[in-house]
Order: sequence, then structure tokens, then C-alpha cells
Amino acid sequence: MQASATPASTINVDYEQPETDRAGEPHACSTHHAWARVPVEPAPTERAALKDKIRRLLKEKNAVMVSHYYVHPDLQDLAEETGGIVSDSLEMARFGRDHAAQTLVVSGVRFMGETAKILSPEKRVLMPDLDATCSLDLGCPVQEFSAFCDAHPDRTVVVYANTSAAVKARADWLVTSSCALDIVRALKDQGQKILWAPDRHLGGYIQRETGADMVFWNGACIVHDEFKAFELEALKKEHPKAKVLVHPESPADVVALADAVGSTSAILNAARTLDATEFIVATDNGMMHKLRTLNPGKVFIEAPTAGNSATCKSCAHCPWMAMNGLAGLAQVLETGANEIHVDPALGLLARRPIDRMLAFTAAQKQQALAGSHLRPHLGAA
Ligand code: SF4
Repeated sequence: MQASATPASTINVDYEQPETDRAGEPHACSTHHAWARVPVEPAPTERAALKDKIRRLLKEKNAVMVSHYYVHPDLQDLAEETGGIVSDSLEMARFGRDHAAQTLVVSGVRFMGETAKILSPEKRVLMPDLDATCSLDLGCPVQEFSAFCDAHPDRTVVVYANTSAAVKARADWLVTSSCALDIVRALKDQGQKILWAPDRHLGGYIQRETGADMVFWNGACIVHDEFKAFELEALKKEHPKAKVLVHPESPADVVALADAVGSTSAILNAARTLDATEFIVATDNGMMHKLRTLNPGKVFIEAPTAGNSATCKSCAHCPWMAMNGLAGLAQVLETGANEIHVDPALGLLARRPIDRMLAFTAAQKQQALAGSHLRPHLGAA
């Protein structure tokens, strides 16, 4: 990652993904070049003024904040303080759909804003920076993906939330990391074979856990792909009592070292419930804010992303999540700029797999409340 200051108070970040990994194998990620524009931290007085302005504008514009766990702590705290939400992408989608506000301000990456718009086409969806993207989305262009699907007509197409509206429109099912295991397991029980995209590591984890027949798109998250098992083992030796919490977008040898594997919500839950006071965490370090706020007295250590002699690329923080800042948020609330638009016909197609996922998880919740251990019915795909 190379950074250079520009007169526009931003930092340009060039990301170069190597063609092969350290063992010389083709790299999982098909994104080789990308960039991000990361705002500089405002000075304390400017920061306070921006927060006041955002609080006022949210009320004036009948708007609500929907923030992801990986964005700047200020955007997480402001969302909660003003009646919005900080959550994973599944809860962000649900919350935006069900909230009465007519304007949703989504702090995260573009696919999250698109998903909010697809589920609430009548609402205005704004984002601090429309160029905030994701290596999984970038690495799964719809034309190549459609050709991949066409080559496997006998498979149910399951895509991760981190995809464009066009890719979602080509899918039978959408999943997030918090419901992927349960949905694939249910599809397998129906005898279905799966085409999975785009995160190869998450797909591999689900295949190992469920035994489902799966073929994979060759994508990876530039943040989680960089966690290193060898260095993690060394860190575990330094902290023998620490439990290891891993997001399943990480490589298989990192997942194998985990005491708990799961989505951001599952990681939060594990930190609360596991019998330990020290944790090594392999996910975006934006999560540390919530982990530390909710667990005072517990210690959270970032999992290593590179060896002593190597240079990390993402350094455990998503450059695109980092594009969300207070100034951008205040500006879009004030001007209405950076609105997300999704072609209505495409939106209708993309909505079907999202609705299936939401119906599945809602049924699962109902059954859990009723004390049933039966798996929810999948409905028609
Ligand atoms: S952390 Fe990874 S999966 Fe999440 S938005 Fe960034 S690149 Fe995409």
C-alpha cells in the first residue's frame, strides 16, 4: 500500500495484489489494482463541529445512520447515539428496510448502499463516498460471473452479499457470513449442488463444515486474505491464554487455529461468552472499537497480517471502509449528493435472493424463539 497526500485533504492509496502468494500459487484474489481515497482525521474542534452538524441534519432531513462495524469509531458511535445502527451487513439490510426514515445514510462500502436501495427503492440512500468499494465486488464482474454460472447450469447459485446488484440479480440465494452456513446446509439437505461466489476462503470454510458439493469463484477479501498462520502461531505462544477469534474470509490455515470462527456478530458474541480475558482477533481492526467498548477489562490483540520481513498490504483495515468520514457524511446530508441509484428492473431481480435470505433468517429466528431445532423451510428458489 502506498500513500500520498493531496491538496484535497485526502490520501490516495494504491493497492497492488500480487499475482501469486508466497508459496508461488495463484493468488485467490482476482483484483490486482485498486485505490481508495482516505480522508484525513479532522482536528478536535472541527470533529466536534462536524458531529453537531450531522446530529442536526439527521433530524432536519428525517434521516437515519446505518454503519458497519469496520468504519471509523466516530461513525459507529454517532449512528447509535442518533437512533441508527452499527452492525454486520445482514442487520444493516434489515434495519434500513424496516426503519421509518425516508433517508438512509449508509457508512460502509458500495454494495451495502446498493442492498439498502434494492430493499427500499422508495427511500433515498446516501453514502459518504460512492467510490468505497470491496475487493470481492471488484473481483467478480457480472459478465464473467454469468459465464461461470452458464457453465454450471445444474448448480444453485449462492452469492455473498459483497457483490454488485447485477451479480445478485444472477443469483438464486444471497448470504452473509452470519447465515451462509445454515443456508448452504439446508440446500445440501435438499440435494442441491452449489455454485459459490465470490469469496473462495469463506466458500471453502462452508464446504468443510457442511460437506456440500461446491464450485468456487476465485475471489478474496484483501483484508482477511492477509492474515498469516505462521505468525499467528507465534503470537499464540506469546499469549498462551488468549482465545483466537477468526472471520471465515481468512485463509484455511488461519481458520484452523481459531477457538471461534464466524461473522462480525459471531465474533462479538464469542468475545462476550468465551471463558477468557484475552483475545487475538483476525478480522478488520475497525471491529476493535466495538469489542473494547462492549468488553471493558478484556484485552484484544490484532492477528498478524505479515511476517517480520514482509510489508502488509491492508494492515488489517479495509481501505474502502476507511473512506467513510465525518466530513463526507455531513456533506451528503447537507447537499443530498452521493445518492445510490439502482436500475428498478435490475433491483427487482436482485431483490429475490435477498428476500429469500431474509425470509430464511426470520423463520430461523422464529423457530429459535419457539424452541424448535428444525431447520426453516427454504421456499422456492
Ligand atoms: S473488509 Fe474485505 S470484504 Fe469487507 S469491504 Fe473491505 S475488502 Fe470487502
